[in-house]
Amino acid sequence: MMEPTALPRRLHDGLERLGAALRADQWEALSKTPLNPTQAQILSFLSRRGGARVGAVAAELRVSQPTATDSIAALERKGLAERRAEPQDARATTASATARGRALAKSLESRVGATERALAALDVGEQTQLLALVVKLIRHLQREGAIAPQRMCVACRHFRPYAHADAAAPHHCAFVDAAFGDGSLRLDCADHEAAQDPEELWRQFSCGPPPGAAARETRPSAAAEPAPSGVK
Ligand code: SF4
Repeated sequence: MMEPTALPRRLHDGLERLGAALRADQWEALSKTPLNPTQAQILSFLSRRGGARVGAVAAELRVSQPTATDSIAALERKGLAERRAEPQDARATTASATARGRALAKSLESRVGATERALAALDVGEQTQLLALVVKLIRHLQREGAIAPQRMCVACRHFRPYAHADAAAPHHCAFVDAAFGDGSLRLDCADHEAAQDPEELWRQFSCGPPPGAAARETRPSAAAEPAPSGVK
């Protein structure tokens, strides 16, 4: 009898195919722009963060500093990014997207490719479950050092998992003072601030709702989905 392929391996193979589809989407989106995929990722990162040092860009993309430096220089030549010396340290420079660069990044982000259409075909419950699994996978990869720390709710000091009894919106964002559900967990939030004890925060989140789902605090009357600026 043929040995069944281990489930993690089959999942890995499936994700590899999704990765290929994502790359194809990206190449198609970039075909009418002056960007290659690395430059597009850097431009998106700089637009979302407002600006970053070369080292932070290299860490985020997991590329070498020379690669990040070359790509930022190419973006500068195209008028899409600029570098400025930091006032407190003249040897350090911060790169940021120009207005033209931000507009291009925005138009690329608003484009819906085949992979996003496939995700939209899942029902909301499936999308929410998938988001929770993606968050969990990202966290595992972060702990292995395979990806840079992400500005996720589950590692944010403003995150209060299962603060509310409402199963549709059990979590609380103290930054915007609003309740929200699993489907609104952020992966890259501009308002994120690192939690003091991320392991304990993750434990509270991954344990799920407390027995009986009793509220840990009173849900504010104007409970709405948090909409901090610059979230993705
Ligand atoms: S929405 Fe942003 S600020 Fe609020 S908990 Fe999530 S990461 Fe933190």
